Amino acid sequence: MLRQPAFTGARPLLKGALHCHTTRSDGKGTPQEVIRLHKQQGYDFMALTDHRLYNYENFAPETGMIILPGMEIDRGIRGFEGVHCFHTVVLGRPQGEGNPFSQDQTFETGQVDGQQDFQAVLDAFHQANHLTLYCHPEWSNTPAREFDQLRGNFAMEIWNSGCVVENGLDTNAAYWDELLMQGQRIYGCATDDGHAMDHHCMGWVRVNAAPDVPSILAALEGGAFYSSCGPEIYDFYAENGKAVVECSPCAEINFRCGQYPCPRTVSSAGDLTRMEFEYPPYLRYLRVTVSDAQGRRAWSNPLFLQP
Ligand SMILES: [Zn+2]
Ligand SMILES: [Zn+2]
Repeated sequence: MLRQPAFTGARPLLKGALHCHTTRSDGKGTPQEVIRLHKQQGYDFMALTDHRLYNYENFAPETGMIILPGMEIDRGIRGFEGVHCFHTVVLGRPQGEGNPFSQDQTFETGQVDGQQDFQAVLDAFHQANHLTLYCHPEWSNTPAREFDQLRGNFAMEIWNSGCVVENGLDTNAAYWDELLMQGQRIYGCATDDGHAMDHHCMGWVRVNAAPDVPSILAALEGGAFYSSCGPEIYDFYAENGKAVVECSPCAEINFRCGQYPCPRTVSSAGDLTRMEFEYPPYLRYLRVTVSDAQGRRAWSNPLFLQP
């Protein structure tokens, strides 16, 4: 049996926000307000990823929120008018445990000539023991051919609430299958990138980890999580050529493999809780998306079916 690593441990999984902004950069909410809002919404951990401003601090310590160290970095792409850029969330280890950065350390923006040039920016963070998450490819106006050679990103954003609310972009795993079909082992994350207060707490990750920063980072790096805007996924595995997903009551379940078949089940009653798929042996990977009666999705990470 091949079980997606999100589902090998005890439930409930930790609920986390990997990308948000506060008044420390261009967000509308203070760090205290944003952390307290996430606590009210049942989050266990979050990263305050203000632009180019490193953070370790829990500004609302009474919440007990686990804060993932990190920030968001960016570079413009030289030679284009308007928005055309690379944005990346970086997530690091606790202070004093292999993380060289200091609280409130600031970083430069700048311009690069393309992804080969941006790789050096990522590599500096990888060498500093950081995970990197490629952000909002549609909002950045970077089709897959402009970021598909980047190496070392543990994940890319497949849902970004701020871009969805303001632009109708980055709604449903744009370009992800293109990278997966190339054989890349890259995971998908739902994030809020919350700037306005009503962007927060719409998309999150559910992580199979102990409640501490090193465990959460290891689980993210290993793909032991799924993403959601509402529905829950309880299990996802493959055995003897058959894939099985179990979830909270949904109106639609879709398997995706970068190929045909890509089967879909729909129920107007919104009462689907399981789907099986006998898949052909040539598939490289298989992932699943479920949608509830309100149209909110959850996305599994892939099962990688080939060695
Ligand atoms: Zn951004
Ligand atoms: Zn952002």
